[in-house]
Amino acid sequence: MLPEGVTLVAVSKTHAADRILEAYHAGQRVFGENRVQELVPKYEELPKDIEWHLIGHLQSNKVKYIAPFVSLIHSVDSEKLLAEINKQAGKCGRKIDVLLQVFVAREETKFGFYPEELTTFFASENLRDYPHVRIRGLMAMATNTDEKSQVAAEFSQVAALFETVRTHAGTDFNILSMGMSSDWQTAVQQGSNMVRIGSTIFGNR
Ligand SMILES: *Cc1c(COP(=O)(O)O)cnc(C)c1O
Repeated sequence: MLPEGVTLVAVSKTHAADRILEAYHAGQRVFGENRVQELVPKYEELPKDIEWHLIGHLQSNKVKYIAPFVSLIHSVDSEKLLAEINKQAGKCGRKIDVLLQVFVAREETKFGFYPEELTTFFASENLRDYPHVRIRGLMAMATNTDEKSQVAAEFSQVAALFETVRTHAGTDFNILSMGMSSDWQTAVQQGSNMVRIGSTIFGNR
């Protein structure tokens, strides 16, 4: 169903371990959770070759619980959080892959950096301060609306930002995480190469 080159993150939040195992036995290895309290017990219970992605808002004081095993954090929305991930990754002797979340939706409840903030951030030397994180790309959520043209415009804005930032960032900067069950086709058309899909796979929550 997905075009080649697009990674599927199976969003298993609220679903029990046996449902995740079904998908695992069908070959899926990348799973996304949005809460630390739910992710940690699932990590402990399930096969160790699962790649766990944290996709929801992350509080700095919870980073330490996932730092030993998380494979990608999609939702870095402040430099304070980035600094804490760097610190906890250092303690574990790891380098943690992260995405910076961009705020483009017309909704107040969503998190992320404004596009201008990211342009400034990457143009500065700040990046060198975080030896234990690898910034792999950007993540964004579009406004929850049926207006496809608005969703497409928001994804397109993030894709353009991704290309701009890429010229300042290293070669590891190659992940653009956009698209959920309702809008992944639009996201992929706009250049997404990682989609986070929950309800289409596991049913409604
Ligand atoms: C829940 C969630 C998804 C998946 O949503 P579906 O509509 O179930 O596909 C994707 N991204 C984030 C950040 C989520 O919290």
